[in-house]
Amino acid sequence: MAKIGLEIHGYIDTKEKLFCTCLSDHGKKDTKPNTNICPVCTGQPGSKPLLPNQEAIKKATEIALLLKCKINEKIPWQRKHYSWPDLPKGFQSTFSGPHAIPNGESGEFMGIRIRECHLEEDPAAWNPDTGEIDYNRSGSPLIEIVTEPDFKESEEVAEWVKNLIVALSYIKAIDKNSGVKADVNVSIPGGKRVEMKNINSIKKIKEAIEVEIERQKKDIPKYEETRMYDEKSKSTKLMRTKENAQDYRFITDPDLPVVKISKEELSKIKSSIPETPQEKLKKLIKVHRIDKKIAEILTKKIEIVEFFEEVAKKIPPEFALPWVTVELLGVLNYNKKELDEVEINPEHFIELLEAVKEKKITELQAKDILRSWIPKSYSPKERIEKSSKIDDKDEIHSIAKKVISENKKAVEDFKSGEKNSLNFLIGQIMKLSNKRADYKTAKEVLEKLLR
Ligand SMILES: [Zn+2]
Repeated sequence: MAKIGLEIHGYIDTKEKLFCTCLSDHGKKDTKPNTNICPVCTGQPGSKPLLPNQEAIKKATEIALLLKCKINEKIPWQRKHYSWPDLPKGFQSTFSGPHAIPNGESGEFMGIRIRECHLEEDPAAWNPDTGEIDYNRSGSPLIEIVTEPDFKESEEVAEWVKNLIVALSYIKAIDKNSGVKADVNVSIPGGKRVEMKNINSIKKIKEAIEVEIERQKKDIPKYEETRMYDEKSKSTKLMRTKENAQDYRFITDPDLPVVKISKEELSKIKSSIPETPQEKLKKLIKVHRIDKKIAEILTKKIEIVEFFEEVAKKIPPEFALPWVTVELLGVLNYNKKELDEVEINPEHFIELLEAVKEKKITELQAKDILRSWIPKSYSPKERIEKSSKIDDKDEIHSIAKKVISENKKAVEDFKSGEKNSLNFLIGQIMKLSNKRADYKTAKEVLEKLLR
């Protein structure tokens, strides 16, 4: 069986870069090259870094906590040297390296051990074909998460990375628009470890692992090597062997002070970390007795699951569930909005569901109100009072009679076997009653009258 390990890089979601006040806007493709730069992030001689961005350090700690790592409280910066056009200072500032202390170590996420996770700065974007360099992302904070080689197959890796991204989105720690990049190491029994660099999507990670395991089975690796995955040819290509591995000449940075995280600060951060999606999922299934598939829909986004939990405090979960997973998500989807991009107050949602439950309004009316809540909800009280539901048979009876006399053609069609005409006639009752008629009663009354 294969052994697979990952090194995952993601952009930490901060406003500014790590050592200067330039915007950290790596995710945006429409930004012109080299417009978010200054002497620090372009490595000009004589420029001095500012003290590191506290927000980035806090978020790196949050990620380490989420991954159940042991947190280090004193972390010296390391200089990782290499000469490449994308690295103007000649070294990368990082918490990685052979003698480094990472932000967190010895953690675990969904059954996979986390060796460490650490903060570092991103180099610039260099295009080797044109020679062009864009320094916009140079100096942006990155998190690197390193797992032990605990995975056994590609499917397991893909599923785990997907879950990791959702979990990281719960603490809003990484920029979800710019995705993740991974280095993937694979070895099979009797063979040396092979690393594949810079794979930038879950789909490609999965493919690369499958292709590489097949290749290794045919030609068991005798040396450690670094390869790259080529998506077009669906194969991996040799980049370098261990013998000519790069020597990064790590040293502790003499210019930057040691980062210290106090006990108070750490306990403050700890208390602010929400439950992970896995913990939420367990709770939904166990406490609210929700089907696993539907619970998974709810836990995909923290704002949705937290909204549901709030509503379920007042409304029976089995009643609230379709209103959140089908109706609310449907309305958001139709408007191409996320829940955190609109203002829907759970209290208003609760009022609405209570009115439906007590049959004060019809489901159709409730859906109408829900649709009118984009971008901002309001108390539905007034509309509920104005449009309280009619389930009085006599009243519906008289509306149905009127509908029958005004729609002779549909009535004839129905009598000659056209079943769809009934829906049309029910629709007319709904229209005349301003959607206040109870659907079931309307149908019963109509069927009786048409017999
Ligand atoms: Zn800058």
